[in-house]
Amino acid sequence: MIATLGSNDLACCSALLDAVLGLEGLALHESLGQIASRLLKRPGGRYVVEPLTLHPQLTQEVMHNGIVFGHYSFQHDTAWTDAEHALLASFAALTGRLLQNRAETERRSHSLDQIESKLEQQAQILNQMHESVITMDQAGFITSWNRGAEQLFGYSALEVIGRNVLFLYENEDEEDSLSDVFLFQGGREMEVRRRKKSGEAFWASLSLSVMTDQHGQPIGMIGYLNDITERKNAEKLIHHLAYYDSLTGLPNRTLLTRTVDEALLAAQHGNLYGCIMFIDLNRFKPINDTLGHVAGDMLLVEVAIRLRKALREDDVVARLGADEFAIALFDIDKDYQAGFIAQKLISLFDEPFFIEGHELRVGASIGISMYPQDARDTETLLRLADIAMYRAKQGGENNEGGYAYYSEEMNRNTLDLLRIETGLLHAFEFNELLLHYQPKVELAGGLITGAEALVRWQHPERGLLLPGDFIPIAEETGLIVQLSDWVLEAVCAQARQWKLAGLAPVRIAINITAREFTRSLPDRVGAALSRHQLTGDWLELEITESMLMTSTDRIISIMEKVCQLGVTISLDDFGTGYSSLSYLKRFPINTLKIDRSFTMGIPDDTNDCAIASAIIGIAKQLKHKVIAEGVENQAQLDFLKAAGCTEMQGYLFSRPIPADNFQLLLTEGRKFIAGV
Ligand code: C2E
Ligand code: MG
Ligand code: MG
Repeated sequence: MIATLGSNDLACCSALLDAVLGLEGLALHESLGQIASRLLKRPGGRYVVEPLTLHPQLTQEVMHNGIVFGHYSFQHDTAWTDAEHALLASFAALTGRLLQNRAETERRSHSLDQIESKLEQQAQILNQMHESVITMDQAGFITSWNRGAEQLFGYSALEVIGRNVLFLYENEDEEDSLSDVFLFQGGREMEVRRRKKSGEAFWASLSLSVMTDQHGQPIGMIGYLNDITERKNAEKLIHHLAYYDSLTGLPNRTLLTRTVDEALLAAQHGNLYGCIMFIDLNRFKPINDTLGHVAGDMLLVEVAIRLRKALREDDVVARLGADEFAIALFDIDKDYQAGFIAQKLISLFDEPFFIEGHELRVGASIGISMYPQDARDTETLLRLADIAMYRAKQGGENNEGGYAYYSEEMNRNTLDLLRIETGLLHAFEFNELLLHYQPKVELAGGLITGAEALVRWQHPERGLLLPGDFIPIAEETGLIVQLSDWVLEAVCAQARQWKLAGLAPVRIAINITAREFTRSLPDRVGAALSRHQLTGDWLELEITESMLMTSTDRIISIMEKVCQLGVTISLDDFGTGYSSLSYLKRFPINTLKIDRSFTMGIPDDTNDCAIASAIIGIAKQLKHKVIAEGVENQAQLDFLKAAGCTEMQGYLFSRPIPADNFQLLLTEGRKFIAGV
């Protein structure tokens, strides 16, 4: 066609190009028909998609590479020359080629649009994810950084793209070269530490996966990160709650058991000795009862600090509950070393504790069980150390504390103690409790001024038990409250009988524990007196010094109410407690009782002599009466008398005796002459 191209042909080709590039649909079809007419100089030329069949038509397919786009169609009325046929065929071929070209261009630009919008969508998805998504090349250089990453780390994409991810690590040296592991495994998940722009380090969960090119070759990594600091903290908290004592921060029993189990396992392979020490504080209960739980807690914290400081880092110090601690030592060579350490721990309590302005003294009793001699498992070692502690407690005179190694024989005793606990419950029911009375004697005239009621338990199998055998257990189990009620009631009932027998009032002293020393005490005492129609001069309360640790109004007001009933108060075991004497005068106390432990040392122990004399002096100054208890021999009596003590109680005069015997002493009006 090009060889025969005239100016009309050229114009038509140009028009064809314009039409194909500029028009679409029917407008294009119409224009194509007109151009064909103009080219062939024949009217009625049309471009149609389907060939017309109604009238005889001259039709020329418009196609390219086998694809038919449409047809040029002319009415076949006059004859067509070969040249005309050839021209139409060439024109149709050109049209086909142009239409094909146009379709291809459209297809291409359409798919580019699609790709672009897909990319846009993906970018949006990435940016709207809370998770931070980071891509990097195989060397760890960051190639993309979504908005989640911006928010999490505080860096914008601009600041980080091109940098190596290592700068986000909390500690660059600690991390392994992640690409190796990562490529080998094809992806992994882990919990890692990362650092924000602000400098703050945090926990993140990181999952890494391989990024590949279209041929499946690795080209980098995609990292998904989530901040899991909160979860980690919660985990930590739960772990802490499960394994640590919340008050002192020391390991609890569970963690102790676990740690010791592990140590024992290791010890099996070596020739190691180990030991567990069970520590129980002395005098903690009265402090807690009188000063309150807050002060009690503060004291426990201080004790924990002292214990922890005194031991090495590898030694385990745990709190088992209340005032009980345990220590596990696993680097001792000889068993006697445990005793040295126990002694050292006990001496930690020599210095008083200062809590809320109070100077408090507590002691510690320590029981020791040895590995492997005593037992080979933690639970048993703990149990045996507990038993030994109990023995240490009983042995420790005046609560100054002590330690004891576990022995077989202790185990048997402990079983006895357990039996006592259950037996005591029945003692009330079966009337197995009784009172003995120990006279208090006025030296000058040898007359009985009163008596101390001391409880005994007529045990069905074991005979008469003394308070030392069951009072500590009653205190521990809470049965002491019931026991005290029983004693108050029994003393009043007995006094009522003596009153009915015509005897003049004689003060019967009952021992009151810290636990009972509450606001309800005066009412309970008052009610018991009136129930038995007694005046207050039949009764005395013996309280221990530890109850006076505070000069609080509460204690004073309880005491004053007791005094208003006509009941007197004496201070038992005086000299063994806290002894800040300055506050003594604030309390409405009638009598100081010199503790038996001092009387015992008289006259040989100069210390005891000095203390007893001092107590007598203080009592005089404060205008309190003073009585010495536990007077067993003439030498003690002589010394105390010379020191100015006028009243005494002890075996030298009488042991505690049954009510009938005591009544006999009263009715006979028997005089205890010194030396008798
Ligand atoms: P406590 O109040 O210091 O009682 C004095 C203890 O010393 C009594 O022991 C008494 O029998 C003993 N004793 C008295 N004179 C002598 C003596 O010359 N030599 C010797 N070696 N001992 C003497 P007991 O009866 O065994 O009572 C022990 C402790 O049990 C009492 O010490 C008291 O704290 C407590 N207790 C006794 N009865 C009761 C009670 O009904 N309620 C409470 N809460 N505690 C009680
Ligand atoms: Mg007493
Ligand atoms: Mg006493």
